[in-house]
Amino acid sequence: MENWPRIGRARSFRKTARNFSAWKSGEADDGGSFAFVKVAEDGSVDVGGKLFSSVGFGDNGMAGGAVGEAAIRVVLGDLKHDFAHGFSLAEGAVMGQRFQFLDFLQNIFLCANFPYPLRMNLLPFGKLAAHRPRTFVPQNPDLGDWPQIAPLFDQLEARAAQAKSAAALERWLLDWSELNSALDEEASRRYIAMTCHTDNPDAEKAYLHFVEHVEPQLKPRQFALEKIYVAHPQRVELLGGTGVPPVSLNSNTAAANTNSRAGRPCHYAVFDRDLKNHVGLFRPENVALETEDAKLCQQYQKLIGAQTVNFRGEEKTLVQMGRYLEEPDRALRQEAWELVAKRRLVDADKCEEIFEQLIQLRAQIAKNAGFENYRDYAHRQKCRFDYTPADCVKFHDAIESEIMPAVRKIQAERKRQLNLEKLRPWDLAVDPHNRPPLKPFAQVGELVSRTQNIFNHLDAELAAGFQQMQDLKLLDLDNHKGKAPGGYQQNLSEARVPFIFMNAVGVQRDVETLLHEAGHAFHAQAMRHEDLFAYRLTTIEFCEVASMAMELLGGEFLEEFYATPEANRARKTHLEGIIGFFPWMAVVDAFQHWIYTHPGHLRAGRKAAYLQLLDRFGGDVDYSGYEEIRAHSWHRQLHIFTHPFYYVEYGIAQLGALQVWANSRRDKVKALNDYKKSLALGGSRPLPELFSAAGCKFQFDAATIKPLIQLAGNELRKL
Ligand SMILES: [Zn+2]
Repeated sequence: MENWPRIGRARSFRKTARNFSAWKSGEADDGGSFAFVKVAEDGSVDVGGKLFSSVGFGDNGMAGGAVGEAAIRVVLGDLKHDFAHGFSLAEGAVMGQRFQFLDFLQNIFLCANFPYPLRMNLLPFGKLAAHRPRTFVPQNPDLGDWPQIAPLFDQLEARAAQAKSAAALERWLLDWSELNSALDEEASRRYIAMTCHTDNPDAEKAYLHFVEHVEPQLKPRQFALEKIYVAHPQRVELLGGTGVPPVSLNSNTAAANTNSRAGRPCHYAVFDRDLKNHVGLFRPENVALETEDAKLCQQYQKLIGAQTVNFRGEEKTLVQMGRYLEEPDRALRQEAWELVAKRRLVDADKCEEIFEQLIQLRAQIAKNAGFENYRDYAHRQKCRFDYTPADCVKFHDAIESEIMPAVRKIQAERKRQLNLEKLRPWDLAVDPHNRPPLKPFAQVGELVSRTQNIFNHLDAELAAGFQQMQDLKLLDLDNHKGKAPGGYQQNLSEARVPFIFMNAVGVQRDVETLLHEAGHAFHAQAMRHEDLFAYRLTTIEFCEVASMAMELLGGEFLEEFYATPEANRARKTHLEGIIGFFPWMAVVDAFQHWIYTHPGHLRAGRKAAYLQLLDRFGGDVDYSGYEEIRAHSWHRQLHIFTHPFYYVEYGIAQLGALQVWANSRRDKVKALNDYKKSLALGGSRPLPELFSAAGCKFQFDAATIKPLIQLAGNELRKL
């Protein structure tokens, strides 16, 4: 930072994005210029050199965090964007000035009439260096502009045929991974910018542009590459079929090599299995059906999204109505619940109609792909190679026999505490002692520092990981105007760092959410060494182990936020929530098993099947007088409509999380080491191996569940 050798040295370089390497090595030629900026600790910036007609950030911004040096790339004869106006203003105004970096970006942005925001100006974090410098993707293309992306896919397609050895095919895979990482990070950045600034039309435009103009183009191109890979003559050799020694991806991380790969026949086995599956399931005749499916799902979402009620003179969404179920005033709760339930019932027939069309479409999709029913197709399509529909049925049964008694006990206790004859549907969310909500913190800074303390207690490595997120500004947690609702963890795939988004308002749920998302973030940090993009993603069944286990492990140190009685109250609510999730998961999953294995069933049959499931898994809640509402209560479960069979994953993952927690009760250090070891595997191993590395069994039968529910039950008694 202190030395500033290149200040003011305008150097020409090639105007095409592809030739960035030439620029880097100084072999520039035709008449462009670029400048360097120096960003100081206080965020102010010095600009050296000249700004010309197109400005982008060299090497994707500044190197080494928010403070450092950045090249402002300047291109004459613009590739796409007209910066003429911006240039003249910028050149006159900024030379040699110091001013706030964001203002600087904003200035260029505003005066240039740039169609999309520059990559960084709406992001909470500064420059994040790529974990591995690009070797295939040029440094400066606009990865939100399809005409600049398409040639990269062309190149990959053309190059595949030239891969005459396993090593060449591996190089090809890694280049493809590099492209995927860069595109994924671009998408993430736009998503983050948009969700952090929902009131910024440019952020929205940039995000929508990517969704509408890039993603649809990507899909067929990705699929074409998948097909090329699956049919590639070197594939067998890559997989070790001809005795080729195990390939080494992580030449710079010896530890990763020895730990994760020694003795393993092929690093690419899971990748290969999933791609082969994906390509093998493709049927051109299903494309139109899937479009139809998506349209119906959208109709459903529109229907649900438009549902509002008039509550005491005010129009409210059904989500907004949720909080009234926590009110101590029982009559008020009932009024709110009834209003919402009856509003839902108005759309019941429409929901059923949409759903019946979906079932038909899905049956045809499955048939076209050679499956007897959509359930079996969906399992295969989700690459569920490690468990079968029969295992899921076993899971449902185990929930009924092992978890339902615990659920009934919790409900009985609630009924007693609320001093009620019968538990009604509006009695399930209120605090049974009518206490005000817990207040774990007042300022977001406290949430962060206390959560940091929890990780300090837990494990030095995880603590360092969370600290790094703070240092790099990868946490955007406070709730403010113009921020999208909810919370998420998003990987920045090229920098290979995680980002957490939340809307903390000072409730216990915020503490749980941050622990949860931090678990995902630790996962992302643990698999940083992995060069294959696909392996830096893990299936839900395991990535939710990382997050849900962290809720439980971190929950041991809630005294960072509360005195012990309040900490115990939070733990109790959390554990009861975990137990209470399983039955609903069983209903959602088992109901879909029934639906898709009973082709041609009638509406009445479906209703009967659903009610039967509610009898098994509904517990002791009295719905008398609301029978129709109960019979249609599945209409609000979005997954059943839009993501068929996607739900059981959370139950499976929760079993893993509970096992990690149980292990930590026996041996905290070992449990955490196993946890970290399993996270570092990313998606490179099949589920049973990931679970086993985490010290867990990959089984969802009664024998596995019984001791976990016993532990949770014992714990609840103590709280
Ligand atoms: Zn999660």
